[in-house]
Amino acid sequence: MPTHPIVAALRGRLGTDVPLATDADVLAAYSHDRAPWLAHGAPLAMVAPGDVDGVRHVLELAAEHRVPVVPRGAGSGLTGAANAVDGCLVLSTHRLRPEPRLDVDDRLVRVGAGTLNGEVKQAAAGVGLLYPPDPASSAFCSIGGNVATNAGGLCCVRYGVTRDWVRELDVVLPGGEALRVGHTAPKSVAGLDLVSLLVGSEGTLGVVTGATLALTRGPDRLVTVVASLPSLAAAGDVVLALRDRPEPPVLLEIMDATTIRAVEELAHLGLDVEAAALVLVQLPEEADGAGAAGPAGVEDVCRAAGATEVYATTEPDEARALLQARRLAYEAFERRGLPLLEDVAVDVSRLPALIAAIAGVAERRGVTIGTFGHAADGNLHPVILVEHDTPAARVLAQSAFDDVVEETLALGGTLSGEHGIGRLKLPYLARQLDPVALRLMQQVRAAFDPLGLMNPGSSLPA
Ligand SMILES: Cc1cc2nc3c(=O)[nH]c(=O)nc-3n(C[C@H](O)[C@H](O)[C@H](O)COP(=O)(O)OP(=O)(O)OC[C@H]3O[C@@H](n4cnc5c(N)ncnc54)[C@H](O)[C@@H]3O)c2cc1C
Repeated sequence: MPTHPIVAALRGRLGTDVPLATDADVLAAYSHDRAPWLAHGAPLAMVAPGDVDGVRHVLELAAEHRVPVVPRGAGSGLTGAANAVDGCLVLSTHRLRPEPRLDVDDRLVRVGAGTLNGEVKQAAAGVGLLYPPDPASSAFCSIGGNVATNAGGLCCVRYGVTRDWVRELDVVLPGGEALRVGHTAPKSVAGLDLVSLLVGSEGTLGVVTGATLALTRGPDRLVTVVASLPSLAAAGDVVLALRDRPEPPVLLEIMDATTIRAVEELAHLGLDVEAAALVLVQLPEEADGAGAAGPAGVEDVCRAAGATEVYATTEPDEARALLQARRLAYEAFERRGLPLLEDVAVDVSRLPALIAAIAGVAERRGVTIGTFGHAADGNLHPVILVEHDTPAARVLAQSAFDDVVEETLALGGTLSGEHGIGRLKLPYLARQLDPVALRLMQQVRAAFDPLGLMNPGSSLPA
């Protein structure tokens, strides 16, 4: 097939230092994210500019040649939002990764879009500060991707989501215009809030090239508790009992028996494989009221819900190892087959109802569903596991997936707590949104991207 003229044009503009690949094996690696369920197209090329000017050239030429662009961070997304479409450019941000620039006085850090979440945490920790957003993929997902998906993670119950920590964004618009939106001040009400519009826009409005993020002081000492519960419903009771404490926990996660066993099989961490559910809680030591006049200690709350084992530690290394169990949940299912991952969320009071509804779907459809998630946010990740990939198994899994969506919407919940819509949830979006809101979103998208070149087929219906 002859090479598209944009490839030569890009080479001419960008020079030979910028990676620009058209070979099939490189393109294969850049054509999809971590959601194995979804089809993807064949890109024309992958291009990885190392600075804002490079991104501007790519978007300018894409507009001139009417070539679609799919922005890509680290490709750890779970909805196919970074999946290539036929004839697109994949614009990888992995080289937009300057050293994080810290401002300790104002507790800020400037980073590139390609900087990894874990690198920001590490830079902040080096000056005694904390960057709280903590997706389980922290070690390998990019800030640009976190911004584009409004990533959540393990610490949202106390610290909120990515949006709560973004002060400024540097963006290149479709067509190549560059701008900065937002303000470094903790408060600013000047014009429409374009930062909020861009956060969670899944690569449909422009390419984020950099960000100024807020930092905070973390608690001095944390207690981490892991409790074995006799049922997922009992785990739900623990969550409800702990969420309303005067000081919220830092994290409050659950894993069901299927997930516990899958993780143990992968990592041999010594988890209680007899438990029907594990609850993982972390909170500042002074907030665990055990023995004091304050709220009941976490251990007591777990035991009151029927916990058969409770283990608590203040040792940071031990705590990291316990949390690793939760971070490995998705990978553990990847090793066992083809995981079809959900990301549904409900009001926290409805968590027990959602847990029961998911169990009902598994039973009715006769499928394996492992459930884990950020329980204190009402956000669960049921994984429908296809162990033997056949067309019939896929149809069955898809039916179970549809049912979980249905049950969530019936509970007044949302299609996505944190992973976004991408291509996975696109067919369902109109079911959740007000049609007028949906029309406004499409108009906003067209205002940013009149030629419709940014990440087409993803995140919003055309
Ligand atoms: C094991 C595992 C655990 C995970 N745990 C969590 C979790 O706890 N919480 C959570 O929220 N997510 C989680 N995720 C999902 C994923 O890591 C997040 O969605 C993350 O924010 C994606 O970042 P990325 O850099 O990999 O983006 P990609 O997957 O490359 O892209 C995601 C979306 O962002 C767009 N995009 C990326 N960079 C830019 C940019 N610079 N400008 C404009 N658009 C851009 C893409 O077009 C795409 O739409 C997990 C994933 C895995 C594999």
